[in-house]
Amino acid sequence: MSIQENLRELKESFVNPDCMLIAVSKTKPVEDILAAYEAGVRDFGENKVQEMAEKHPQLPPDIRWHMIGHLQRNKIKYIAPFVHLIHGVDSLKLLQAVNKEGKKINRVLSCLLQVHIAKEENKFGWDEQELLTVVESDAFQALNHVRIIGLMGMATYTDDEQIIRSEFAGLNILMNNLKEKALPPVFELKELSMGMSGDYHIAQEEGSTMVRIGSAIFGNRTY
Ligand SMILES: *Cc1c(COP(=O)(O)O)cnc(C)c1O
Repeated sequence: MSIQENLRELKESFVNPDCMLIAVSKTKPVEDILAAYEAGVRDFGENKVQEMAEKHPQLPPDIRWHMIGHLQRNKIKYIAPFVHLIHGVDSLKLLQAVNKEGKKINRVLSCLLQVHIAKEENKFGWDEQELLTVVESDAFQALNHVRIIGLMGMATYTDDEQIIRSEFAGLNILMNNLKEKALPPVFELKELSMGMSGDYHIAQEEGSTMVRIGSAIFGNRTY
């Protein structure tokens, strides 16, 4: 099926039609991104800094670029001038480095805090309890070139729907618990980035506001 057909089917299957679709274009050529762009997609996700920085100048300027991968501190500068949202902020050190880069170029950079919700050890992210305590610390008060607009999480890779559902539900509960705190002004919590090709319907049922979908649009990736 073509990218256009995949997109149409995907949108029709959305439990929540208002949920933002981020087309994950990692490893895919610029031509594929343009095909999705022509079908109306404006939000694209990449997981590697270099790949995003190479694709960005070749594509229309109204594309909103989402960094969904693990970001290294020394590479923030390559995407800071144009990135729309950084999904994978998994430590205070990284958040502070993003803030520093934002200050340099006089831009407030929007971020999501990645939370470790899966059973697997190899996934990145904040521990829930750690996050609940650290958000009220002075370190967060001092940040003025980042804006934390929500949370991101990746569920366990499993066929067990109940596990996936409870992990997504847990992230939603965590965001509500955070919202009840006296948070520093850097927080404007509203987005929940959860759900990929295999689990986006469950994620939407559990309150996702942004899904990151690659293979269901562009086909399988060959690395
Ligand atoms: C690759 C990737 C996706 C998209 O995965 P698909 O299964 O192809 O939809 C979503 N989120 C992150 C963080 C990714 O790295």
